Amino acid sequence: MRFLSTRGESHRATLSEAIQRGLAPDGGLYVPEDFPELSLSDFGFAEGPREIGEVALLPFFEDDPLDEHLSPICAYAFEPPIPLLPLDATTSVLELFRGPTAAFKDFGARFLAGALSALRGGNGKPLTVLVATSGDTGGAVAAAFHDRPGVRVLILFPNDRISKRQEKQLTTWGGNVRALAVRGDFDDCQRLVKEAFSDEPLRRAHRLTSANSINLGRLLPQMAYYAYASVQYLRENGAAPGFIIPSGNLGNAAACLWARALGCPVREVVLSTNANPTITHFTATGEWDPKPTVRTVANAMDVGTPSNIERLVHLTGGWVQLRRRIRAVRADDDEIREQIRLGKERWDYLLDPHTATAAAARSQLGGDHWVLVGTAHPAKFEEVVEPIVGQPLELPESLARILELPGEATEIEPTLEALRAELGG
Ligand SMILES: *Cc1c(COP(=O)(O)O)cnc(C)c1O
Repeated sequence: MRFLSTRGESHRATLSEAIQRGLAPDGGLYVPEDFPELSLSDFGFAEGPREIGEVALLPFFEDDPLDEHLSPICAYAFEPPIPLLPLDATTSVLELFRGPTAAFKDFGARFLAGALSALRGGNGKPLTVLVATSGDTGGAVAAAFHDRPGVRVLILFPNDRISKRQEKQLTTWGGNVRALAVRGDFDDCQRLVKEAFSDEPLRRAHRLTSANSINLGRLLPQMAYYAYASVQYLRENGAAPGFIIPSGNLGNAAACLWARALGCPVREVVLSTNANPTITHFTATGEWDPKPTVRTVANAMDVGTPSNIERLVHLTGGWVQLRRRIRAVRADDDEIREQIRLGKERWDYLLDPHTATAAAARSQLGGDHWVLVGTAHPAKFEEVVEPIVGQPLELPESLARILELPGEATEIEPTLEALRAELGG
């Protein structure tokens, strides 16, 4: 299998190349050149996320040096359980937040960590992963790469500008994960990472790579969990489910549409959003008109210009076709709060603010066999959820443990020279 750029068909990359590069040379996003049609019988007796995921991913790994590593990579990436629980007769929830940092991004980060670690190649220098973070992504990446052989991670975060809890998730690892507290804001962190990547000698000397959220290596495992969830749902309920996906940058949505393109039993894909209007404006009018980001209580979805739209348009063959293929429903903060209350009342279930947007969409859709995609653990957003449900929320154990450890970060000036010094000789 080869991978193309969304912006031009002339460049073709292998899986390993696409994962190591992150972005295609023309600035586009990598997408599979085609989708082999799988049928239910291809999944045979495969059970659980790990086995079913492996069947779904195999065609994308063929002919690549990563092929022989697929099994161990899946074993690592799909180690956290993925419960698929009925809430009532017509609605279930797919809990993607049982990993180390209690959000679905753990799956992509772990898969990418497994792949990069396998690609490090013999006894050469370790790969250096540079990540700029304004909060949560860096934590998932740190957790995923910690103790992986052949890879070291440098996390850049804006000093004194993230929450204490987020800082803990970046600074308590030690070993191959180092945190750099940049004296500046998030834009400075991003600029430094970009400057380091454009500095050819630095890039080569340290085998720099990124763990950016648009990396193909983060999207493939997401496709695999939709393969798992749809096959499992069909086996248990005799029908293909529709997935309602809390969306921001549209990575999870792209992954679900990819699973459908593979032939997985996905009946329909509905996107739920917070007050940020870009996606629902498009499905309502056909016009793609990115808007400045609006801050909401579902802050991981505060995206004005969703970058994975390129992958969606490429997959469906154009804007008009895409618009026919998806539905989208928007929920403002009041609606999100109301859904958290209703979730507790109706289902005795605690929704986080992101998953609550999926519940809001569900309440507007008819029919049966809907799966809400649960993207984060409610205890990560206790300041929103606790006052509504009137009970204290307990952090998952893995996250609670991290928060008790002492953190360590090195403060640096926001200059490439300072970063160069930290990268070492
Ligand atoms: C990142 C994130 C989202 C949005 O996912 P996209 O793939 O960017 O659309 C939704 N919920 C949570 C909790 C997230 O962290």
